[in-house]
Amino acid sequence: MQQKIHLMLSPEDAVMPSSLKSAIALHCGIAPEDITGYHILKKSIDARSKIPYIQMHLQVFIQEPFPERSIPVPAWKNVEHVKRNACIIGAGPAGLFAALKLIELGIKPILFERGKMVKERRRDLALLNKKGILNPESNYCFGEGGAGTYSDGKLYTRSNKRGDINRILQLFVHFGAPANILWDAHPHIGTNKLPGIITAMRQCILACGGEIHFEKKLSGFKIKDHSISHINLASGEEIKIQSLILATGHSADDIYLLLKNNSLQLEAKPFALGVRIEHPQSCIDAIQYHHETRSEFLPPASYQLSTQAMGRGVFSFCMCPGGIIAPASTHPGQLVVNGWSPSKRNNPFANSGLVAEVNKHDVKTWLKEMKTWPFPDTENDPLLLSYFQKYVEEKSFQAGGGNFKAPAQRLVDFCNHKFSANLPQCSYIPGVASVELNKVLPPFIFSSLQQALKTFGNEMRRKKGKGFYTNDALVVATESRTSSPVRIPRDSIKMHHLQISNLFPCGEGAGYAGGIVSAAMDGERIAQAVASSRAQGL
Ligand SMILES: Cc1cc2nc3c(=O)[nH]c(=O)nc-3n(C[C@H](O)[C@H](O)[C@H](O)COP(=O)(O)OP(=O)(O)OC[C@H]3O[C@@H](n4cnc5c(N)ncnc54)[C@H](O)[C@@H]3O)c2cc1C
Repeated sequence: MQQKIHLMLSPEDAVMPSSLKSAIALHCGIAPEDITGYHILKKSIDARSKIPYIQMHLQVFIQEPFPERSIPVPAWKNVEHVKRNACIIGAGPAGLFAALKLIELGIKPILFERGKMVKERRRDLALLNKKGILNPESNYCFGEGGAGTYSDGKLYTRSNKRGDINRILQLFVHFGAPANILWDAHPHIGTNKLPGIITAMRQCILACGGEIHFEKKLSGFKIKDHSISHINLASGEEIKIQSLILATGHSADDIYLLLKNNSLQLEAKPFALGVRIEHPQSCIDAIQYHHETRSEFLPPASYQLSTQAMGRGVFSFCMCPGGIIAPASTHPGQLVVNGWSPSKRNNPFANSGLVAEVNKHDVKTWLKEMKTWPFPDTENDPLLLSYFQKYVEEKSFQAGGGNFKAPAQRLVDFCNHKFSANLPQCSYIPGVASVELNKVLPPFIFSSLQQALKTFGNEMRRKKGKGFYTNDALVVATESRTSSPVRIPRDSIKMHHLQISNLFPCGEGAGYAGGIVSAAMDGERIAQAVASSRAQGL
């Protein structure tokens, strides 16, 4: 017999197999020996009340054989000698999942990636962190696995209408992710485990006869009769193509320029820009778990905040418990911060983006007050928001004093327009410099963040000790790559670019995804679209 049950357990009981089994037996009114096994269907922490507890949905097997959890694996074909192929630009989650799906559909993927393989990429990250030397082709955003490789690997997404989230999670498990991502309410993998998973994906694509070429950057293309006939690589090659999947991520602004210079339609897309906030993890634990010390059975706490401030949405973004603030720049002279955490989330700091929404009307209004703007005559340019992003990133770099040192201010000082005489310890390895951040952030962003921080401070208090609104926390600029500031418009059914029948804009850079899982799902959808376009002889 099988039974689906819901339990509310103490964190300890949820972790200890013997306690969990006893709780199941008690709930079902049976002896523990009658339980042959159970599958966790969903697990979440409920910390709303004073004592946090764990909610668990389980499928229990009683007095019948217990089947191990099986992960369905797609029937990947060997496509080595298949004539039908599709070029993919970019080996981020969108590009890799598109490649895997194409193989499933019997089409050979030929992937070009401007950056290096995961292992080699690590050396460039070390150079950036330790010496402030940025490789514009190999960094936290560019290289095998894309921006997702050295990330926190949070896999939570609300985009459940865009595809099958579960299938993406199952594929991650197939390639080496821990199985608990299938049932945790807020699954994450961790920076230390992601490179191995990405390597396994590459090996699968190659074993099936797909091609992957590293350090090959798309630099141009030829258009003939509303389709792309050839692509050009920065290394000099010209390649004849059948279909082109453009999965270049939101940091490849050279790709937006390339499309614009070829008179291809683009749209300015609202995005969000702001800062990273870093607190001691113990402070966030104490707020969220209502206790001064976190139980060893509870994970480092996280938070998700949102409010309206000065008429615009302000929200926390990509919160990394036990994490590190990372330099996520792709251009020399521009400073971008983001965050990651290892699978155990065991660093002493909790960081999160705190960003305000920006649209082209905001920037146009702000431009009217600006005395100097390095991008003249761009008011109606579809890349306006991309230029704005670049402008703030440059200001941030200059304010930090170079070498990717980040400008930073204590949180209460930030809200009170006060220079921070000294700064607390920070996880950001290149280092931080005390700067009044109103000199970096445009006023409409700065004042929205100030107001939002006060609201969040009221929401996240502690009975004793310091809450969210504390000068022990640090505000670090600039978190500017939250999502793409540009959309590459595509046909809603056939999914190709509105003007080019064999160009398929894909993933976050095209403006159709935000995060690892939604980019992966978009990759799969685009692969399907490529397959159908070919079936129709397009
Ligand atoms: C530090 C950090 C932490 C993050 N944490 C999380 C997280 O925890 N959870 C989450 O969901 N998301 C996270 N993100 C965001 C996530 O990584 C992205 O949403 C996701 O990777 C987007 O996938 P994509 O494939 O569309 O683009 P990308 O991952 O950006 O991949 C694009 C690829 O295209 C390549 N490329 C660009 N231009 C060219 C060209 N001209 N020629 C050839 N190749 C090119 C790039 O090198 C890159 O590898 C994080 C991002 C960063 C930087």
